[in-house]
Amino acid sequence: MIDSKSRASAPARPDAPEIPILSHWIGGRPVEVLPEHTGPVFNPATGEVIARVPRGGAPEVDAAVKAAAAAFPAWRDMPLIARSSIFFAYRQLVYEHREEMAALITRDHGKTFPDALAEVMRGLETVEFACGLTVNMAGLNTPNVASKVDVHTLRQPLGVAAGITPFNFPVMVPMWIYPIALMTGNTFVWKPSSHTPGATQLQAELWHEAGLPDGVFNVVYGGREAVNAILVHPGINAIQFVGSTPVGRHVFETGTAHGKRVGAYTGAKNVMLVLPDADLDLVADSAVASGFGSAGERCMAQTLVMTVGDVADKLRPMIEKRMAALKIGPGMEKGSDMGPLYSAEHRASVIDWIEKGAAEGAELVVDGRPFRHAEHPDGFYLGVTLFDHVKPGMEVYNEEIFGPVLGMVRVSTFDEALGLINSHQYGNGTAIFTNDGGAARRFELEVDVPMIGINVPIPVPAGYLSFGGTRGSAFADLQMRGEDSVRFFTRQKEVTVRWPEPGKQGPLSLVFPGN
Ligand code: NAD
Repeated sequence: MIDSKSRASAPARPDAPEIPILSHWIGGRPVEVLPEHTGPVFNPATGEVIARVPRGGAPEVDAAVKAAAAAFPAWRDMPLIARSSIFFAYRQLVYEHREEMAALITRDHGKTFPDALAEVMRGLETVEFACGLTVNMAGLNTPNVASKVDVHTLRQPLGVAAGITPFNFPVMVPMWIYPIALMTGNTFVWKPSSHTPGATQLQAELWHEAGLPDGVFNVVYGGREAVNAILVHPGINAIQFVGSTPVGRHVFETGTAHGKRVGAYTGAKNVMLVLPDADLDLVADSAVASGFGSAGERCMAQTLVMTVGDVADKLRPMIEKRMAALKIGPGMEKGSDMGPLYSAEHRASVIDWIEKGAAEGAELVVDGRPFRHAEHPDGFYLGVTLFDHVKPGMEVYNEEIFGPVLGMVRVSTFDEALGLINSHQYGNGTAIFTNDGGAARRFELEVDVPMIGINVPIPVPAGYLSFGGTRGSAFADLQMRGEDSVRFFTRQKEVTVRWPEPGKQGPLSLVFPGN
């Protein structure tokens, strides 16, 4: 086990002494690569290159699948309670290393340290759920389905499963996937985002330290080439993907066409609906926290504040006031409310969105583009932006921006709002703010979006419950996490049993068996 200090900064290589090169993790050990097969990892707070990440492809995916396939029979057959003990050990190790893990997240993602720490703790909820999955692996037993015939069901793992994850939650989202895949008896190949790989190796090393057998958990870095190799690899049976909608659609279509079970959970444009009777201080706090937390780089951020009646006139200055008080700075700096965006390219794309919104007629109330960080002019910072009078049909209404840009949409009635939310191309999360229980009840029954908040702005349910969207926000038959993921990562068998009684066998019959 590498000690935490050397792990956090990763061992330097003689050919690039100041910039560590990350390694794939295959068969229980790091697999080094040559510098020419790597790409840069940035610290978005300063704009500096802090590491190099391997650009893996088909050969690395194949090696990882072979290691996972070799480890599968023994892992599948390991007594459930022994598997569970490894999970308890892993849970404890992640907890002990939570601050180190959070610092690694902040370093290449940019989000603030408290936000990164909260991410680790929310991810742990699903690890904790998996610790107790022994119970969920139970089947059913039905005696006497026919004369002297019983039926029992088994839940068995699928084999080698893969997870493909996005940049924005480099610990929590993988922890929504691999604990359930592993605890149900599958072995695993993880393809993390190359933008935020800092905390990846620590997760692999902690599994190793927890006693996970070699080959059960593997990591291959890379982009499109590695993903495409996963989608067509005959040794992979199931894939869970989290990321943008175009890539998720491709993953679902290609993976299923190659015979794999696929769940792809994708982009979002979430609406916070504000009724005239809502507590406007709560609404303003919630809109700012949800829209600008993690620089708007959350799939559950509520980025459209849809107001009914004339409530927007009162609400807008309250939001503006809170925006003006936000401190933008490095994620590790005490007091920073919002860090930089994760990459220079993404910052440029969010700036394009702000220009587009203004050009298509939304009122630019607060413009985040001029913001510069005095001490870190090369960091990927952007100020916070507020649009008002965003209208259906505008691109800034339709499309995901994934940056610190909040849009206010004014509508006349609750029914108009409900119709708009239900016809949006995305359907990941939504929230209603009201003190009217009847309206809230109608909302939860009639809104066609699965993750719903009532006076809660980021309605991500606890880690033992399922999670997932609809329309352009998911290409999947089941949600991820929770009981749905247990079903996703297992196949049920029905076993029909008769124990012959000597001398009591009936005559041969070709009639279809009945009772
Ligand atoms: P992304 O789609 O660019 O990347 C996701 C994964 O796909 C990464 O591992 C990446 O390496 C890989 N990838 C990227 N381009 C590819 C290509 N052309 N072909 C094959 N693979 C490719 O997403 P991102 O920018 O890392 O993450 C942000 C997106 O993720 C947003 O759209 C956000 O809404 C979404 N997201 C959704 C959820 C959810 O639960 N629905 C949660 C978190 C993030």
